[in-house]
Amino acid sequence: MLKNILIFFLLTSTILYGRLDLDFSVHKLGNGKGNTLLIIGGIQGDEPGGFTAASLIATKYKITNGNVWVVPNLAFESIIKRSRGVYGDLNRKFANLKKSDPDYETIQRIKKLIINDEVDVIVNLHDGSGFYRKKYVNKMKNPNRWGQCSIIDQEKMDGVKFGNLQEISEKVVENVNKYSINKEYNYLVNNTKTGEGNQEMAKTLTWYAVKNNKPAFGNEASKSFRTHTRAFYHLLAVEGFMKYLDIEFERDFKLTPRQVRAEINNDVKVAMNEKIVLDVVGSRNWINYLPLQKGSKVKASSTNPLTAVVSNGKNYRIHYGNRRMSYIAPQYFDYDTSIKSFDFMVDGQKKTVDFGSHVNVYNNFMVEPKKGYRVNVIGFSKRNIKNESGIKVTKRDVVKRFSVDKKGTTYRVEVYKEKENKFAGMVLVKFQDRKTYASSSIPSSIKNN
Ligand SMILES: [Zn+2]
Repeated sequence: MLKNILIFFLLTSTILYGRLDLDFSVHKLGNGKGNTLLIIGGIQGDEPGGFTAASLIATKYKITNGNVWVVPNLAFESIIKRSRGVYGDLNRKFANLKKSDPDYETIQRIKKLIINDEVDVIVNLHDGSGFYRKKYVNKMKNPNRWGQCSIIDQEKMDGVKFGNLQEISEKVVENVNKYSINKEYNYLVNNTKTGEGNQEMAKTLTWYAVKNNKPAFGNEASKSFRTHTRAFYHLLAVEGFMKYLDIEFERDFKLTPRQVRAEINNDVKVAMNEKIVLDVVGSRNWINYLPLQKGSKVKASSTNPLTAVVSNGKNYRIHYGNRRMSYIAPQYFDYDTSIKSFDFMVDGQKKTVDFGSHVNVYNNFMVEPKKGYRVNVIGFSKRNIKNESGIKVTKRDVVKRFSVDKKGTTYRVEVYKEKENKFAGMVLVKFQDRKTYASSSIPSSIKNN
């Protein structure tokens, strides 16, 4: 089983003259032995099935034998801006490219990774229109459509390990079709015969790889599906590659479209300045008066590589792939760095909670008073009380419209250095609803209530 530990990736999200300074990330999973599969997602910014699948591999899979390298966000700025390619189609820039092209550095970096000695096989994930068929069926199902196929540039590469492209592609298709939710959606192998004069395909990533003796495949899920179903098909294909390459993996969810959707929306968090944490999915459209640091840029990190915190005039906006999530309206403070955590009584049990994390509450919580620090429970107010430590708070004591989430279960607890009014840190308190209450382990202290 995978342990439920959240790993935060550092994000850079400065804006320079309207251009987002967002570099793609590389996630290396595995034990350093055996074969290495390189998975690329987001070469085009408007194909969320592919980059979402890649992000799930990077965050929710454990590779127990062999290696998987993942680039989930190749055209990161295009992903955030919901554009096929802000500076043109990135997948047509692998043959010739001027040094002045804004994508030049990105192309050099990914080329270097593709030809890395350790990489054995490459798969580039795309979302294509309709359904690829060998013969014309109708407008959406014909040889010119790209959806639901495994793409090779040629049948084989002589003298290259894993150069039996056709055979591997067939195995991948077999794995997809074995678990396909409907026969109509089954995959086929699609050989673009790039070397026989296909000029468009000759500019692509996979052809660059093949020409450099690296076996490479395209994988296409249909744009006729919603994102999670596309991601589901991509994951089936990726697992087909892993099986062929003897790469062993674990995932702690069932591979169904429904479960994939749950994983996409589960536990995506953004941390800011190591003091603040927010849920990316389910938060309100506006989060107001968030204490950001006076005179300094937001240092953001996230549990998901498709997330970015982007400045938007006076405010910030949280992005998650093609999805535009919450706006943040900041209030600026000097920061206090004297403490990194705070003591709570949670359902009668003492807990030290790190700033920038959350705590689950079943009945009530109380922030332990600490000399020199003032506590503000956002949404709680009692007349004439400025410091809200030392008070037992239940869900009924907080005003729902102050919650950070739309459901009204999650509230901000902010700590300030009293004298200088400096912001010390924030903790999210999550009141568990009845459903969660029933399914999670209830602390023994309240079990008997
Ligand atoms: Zn594409």
